[in-house]
Amino acid sequence: MNDQTETIFAKILRKEIPSVAVYEDDDVYAFLDAHPVNPGHTLVIPKKPSKGFLDAEPEVLEKLIVAVQKITQAVKIGMKADGINLHQNEGAAAGQEVFHLHIHIIPRFENDGYEHWHGKSYTSEEEAEKTANEIRKNLV
Ligand code: 5GP
Repeated sequence: MNDQTETIFAKILRKEIPSVAVYEDDDVYAFLDAHPVNPGHTLVIPKKPSKGFLDAEPEVLEKLIVAVQKITQAVKIGMKADGINLHQNEGAAAGQEVFHLHIHIIPRFENDGYEHWHGKSYTSEEEAEKTANEIRKNLV
């Protein structure tokens, strides 16, 4: 047994904890977030667990993202949303609380008060280029 089997979402998948289902297939389960940013805020999880995005198998991600698109369409229409935020917190420093990969589908409405992050600026083109290089050299 690995540690992912003991997350709250593993218990939700095993129906040990109730959830309000939105969608289910062989690979994916989607349910309402218990503390929604807006009504209809939905969490989509792969049935095969990983802690997050980075340790998920590509085959799992393929099925997940296709399901996310389908569910997002339904959330947008069903909630009559003006827009949607797709969100995934990777790691505690990024705000991840449940370590079973999940994508947030957040319906958005004009002036709903949910704020975007506040961006900073690079001090120079050199700094931006150096920053991009730190990423490029780690692509595998
Ligand atoms: P994270 O911060 O890990 O990206 O998001 C975890 C999300 O799971 C939060 O938005 C939180 O409201 C939701 N959540 C935590 N526990 C439960 C639960 O027992 N049931 C449901 N439906 N959502 C939960």
